[in-house]
Amino acid sequence: MKKISILGSTGSIGTQTIDIVRLNSDVEVVGLSAHKNIDLLEKQIREFKPQVASIWEEDDAKLLKDRVKDIDVRIVFGMEGLIEVACINESDIIVTAVVGMIGIQPTIAAIKAKKNIALANKETLVCAGHIIMPLAREMNINIYPVDSEHSAIFQCLDKNNPVKKILLTASGGPFRGFTKEELKNVTLEDALKHPNWSMGKKITIDSATMINKGLEIIEASHLFDMDIDDIEVVIQKESIIHSMVEFKDNGIIAQLGTPDMKLPISYALFYPERRYISEARVDFNTLSTINFSKPDPEVFEGLKMAISAGKRGGSAPTVLNAANEWAVDKFLNNKIKFIDIPYLIGMALDNHEFTKNPSIEDILYLEKWTEEFLERIKI
Ligand code: NDP
Ligand code: MG
Repeated sequence: MKKISILGSTGSIGTQTIDIVRLNSDVEVVGLSAHKNIDLLEKQIREFKPQVASIWEEDDAKLLKDRVKDIDVRIVFGMEGLIEVACINESDIIVTAVVGMIGIQPTIAAIKAKKNIALANKETLVCAGHIIMPLAREMNINIYPVDSEHSAIFQCLDKNNPVKKILLTASGGPFRGFTKEELKNVTLEDALKHPNWSMGKKITIDSATMINKGLEIIEASHLFDMDIDDIEVVIQKESIIHSMVEFKDNGIIAQLGTPDMKLPISYALFYPERRYISEARVDFNTLSTINFSKPDPEVFEGLKMAISAGKRGGSAPTVLNAANEWAVDKFLNNKIKFIDIPYLIGMALDNHEFTKNPSIEDILYLEKWTEEFLERIKI
């Protein structure tokens, strides 16, 4: 029996992980966690009867405890609660499906507790990859990528040959082909309409700004120990090729599939086994063409900034990511415009005090500094 804990079980990746669990009778859910969605968390607790479940606020935890008093489950809250779910003794693998830097501390705690990680929460690796990857090696645990591109790369690796280049594919998002001028007037509603993928709101906006691809470049550089310069973004608007790797002999291996996260989630949970998934398959009778193009870094400035922050390393990726999280939240609440997102990231990057090798404490401080700095900027 494989025992799993899910951090962020009520979100897009969390609920799809649960769909995979339902398909496999040899998986047991021992830990669940949510931020605010108490109704769905209660349903999940009733269905899976985990040992521990966490919710963010103490008051919600009290309410939840009362609602599930007929079930033998410990209800915990806050960061301590999240860490407890990440470190349950019996668990074999933790699915990190929370959104944002909130995932850093529980992921590190889980690795220290010798848990394998199925990693969806890319922000954690973007900010703290330089700490997490060596720690994972030291603790002898595996980090299995859930992000579709990184899962694709992982599926394409050849243990006998080093990768020369990663070709990271991107759909280009809802504003593919837009000019800088056209981006000035896009609305929140436009930005939330991703052409191919159905995902949580934050990553949907990140896809529209293409900052998601920048975060993924940094994520890939940590996961596969590659130079940022050896990772190239290729726009492939159908989202059928999930990424490719190129070897020394110029041979390229690609992984293809429908735009559905079930395969990467299932592959991360059951690696090296491939399990049955009933979803639609790629049909080459209806798919007549696959198109390729290049992203325009002058239009998608956030992508350009992310690449440059990735190359600079140190504190830069954390500030980029923290500023992006702050700005996306404001955009989702209609407080700023779409094009303010890269502007604010640029301001935070230009004004922060660069450090070369930030510790976890430094990273958490930089997050706070970034938020306070951006609060003071008038747009
Ligand atoms: P969602 O917004 O759909 O879900 C986020 C989850 O995290 C929810 O369960 C939410 O709880 C929970 N959460 C947020 N804050 C906390 C907290 N403080 N404590 C506990 N739980 C918390 O996001 P996605 O599923 O889309 O994305 C999750 C991660 O996976 C992101 O890092 C994203 O970049 C990455 N990813 C997602 C993909 C996708 O297809 N969705 C694809 C590739 C990567 P609640 O529901 O209560 O708010
Ligand atoms: Mg992705």
